[in-house]
Amino acid sequence: MRTCLKAPPILTGFGNGDVEVVEDRWLDEAARTVPRYTSYPTAHAFVPGFTSEVYADWLARIEGPIALYVHIPFCIERCAYCACNVIATKHRDAASAYLKLLGREVLAVSERLKKKVCVTRMHWGGGTPTYYTPAELRLAVQAIRGSFEFTEDAEISIEADPRVTTIEHLRMLRRLKFNRLSIGVQDFAPAVQAMIGRIQSAETTRRVVRNARALGFDSVNLDLVYGLPLQTERRIAQTMEPVVEMRPDRIAIYGYAHLPERVPNQRKIDPATVPGVRLRRRLEEVARKRLVEAGYVEVGLDHFALPTDPLAKAAKQRSVHRDFMGYTTSRDSTLVAVGVSSISELPQGLIQNVKKLSAYERALDRGELPVEKGCRTNADDLIRRHVIQRLMCDLEVRYEEVERAHAIRFEEYFKEELRELRVPDGLIAREIARETPVGLTVEPAARSLVRNVCYVFDRRARQSGDPPAGMSSAG
Ligand code: SF4
Repeated sequence: MRTCLKAPPILTGFGNGDVEVVEDRWLDEAARTVPRYTSYPTAHAFVPGFTSEVYADWLARIEGPIALYVHIPFCIERCAYCACNVIATKHRDAASAYLKLLGREVLAVSERLKKKVCVTRMHWGGGTPTYYTPAELRLAVQAIRGSFEFTEDAEISIEADPRVTTIEHLRMLRRLKFNRLSIGVQDFAPAVQAMIGRIQSAETTRRVVRNARALGFDSVNLDLVYGLPLQTERRIAQTMEPVVEMRPDRIAIYGYAHLPERVPNQRKIDPATVPGVRLRRRLEEVARKRLVEAGYVEVGLDHFALPTDPLAKAAKQRSVHRDFMGYTTSRDSTLVAVGVSSISELPQGLIQNVKKLSAYERALDRGELPVEKGCRTNADDLIRRHVIQRLMCDLEVRYEEVERAHAIRFEEYFKEELRELRVPDGLIAREIARETPVGLTVEPAARSLVRNVCYVFDRRARQSGDPPAGMSSAG
């Protein structure tokens, strides 16, 4: 993985004069709305009409191991920037009732799987999984372990909001064999925190990191967000100092998408305070440069890891798969997701659970799996998924690898896409992508535009004619 930038951007405090020109000529591309490609096909391609029977049939055909995703939608209050599927409430009764429903769904899913299917990885996300008390978490995990067989070395991770995660939570999680902790930070600047409605000091975060280390979590991850309202280069540079000092194993930096027309709670944010395209690029570069200086290895898009971390090692060997980076697409297992709004990814396609708690309960009461929409994948999707995954993880796709896996001739199969890339004002001429003797690579200085290159290969989004789902922020 190359970490040097061909043309490092102009950064306050770092000084480099000619990069703004480079950045400026890509601003139109940076301003385009493209999917995040956390899966392919993306959720944009989902259609209604997927039934419990269809999903049950897909589950029954799973042969290998599974990765399990558990969605907890509850938060104490809703952060103004959040685009996640969240139920903000201080009333714990609804959340306790949800755990019982979740247990019923887990049982219903496990009963439809073959006996030998076991779990190699489990991730709890949200929302705020540590919204629950340690005792509630124990009961929920016990219910899952009662329904599924786990491998001895299963990777078990959870998202933790430091504002509500106590030492008792962490002790319980270790007892329950959680070995990876993903901690939400976003930004430490008080002005930014006030604007996004999330007050969380560096000390609060540091306490959780320190306790997690002391309790023996194998990996600690921090999630940051650039492009937040009132963020400036100085503020994000100041945020990076305690982050680097805490020395997490991995760091993810996601771009905030301001979409108040689709995300009503974002209307609380004054649009005049949201950074424009040029400032967004600079914020991202300030954060990236500081992490690279601090010895982190850049992996694909948005992700950084210490050189000793398995993710950095995998990046070196071009063996990063998106599940490694917290994406939904699985490496060696089928992704089965439980909880409202969660998305499962099976060989036959992607399928999403209902979003509303009431619909979730009604479906389970009827003895059904609570699914509502999805997308069947075809052979073309699998080829395009391969290309998009490689670009997202390695910033490079090697044609021969795709040809071998799918028995196609790349130049022929993607002649339209390659033609579009090669036209005089295409992404190659604009030095965003480059052809190499073995394939197509994204220029290091243009890595933040890798999704624009992926979009060229996204037949579903381009054929639909609808605007694609925008890049969203981390939850
Ligand atoms: S950002 Fe995280 S803590 Fe805030 S509302 Fe969204 S899921 Fe909850």
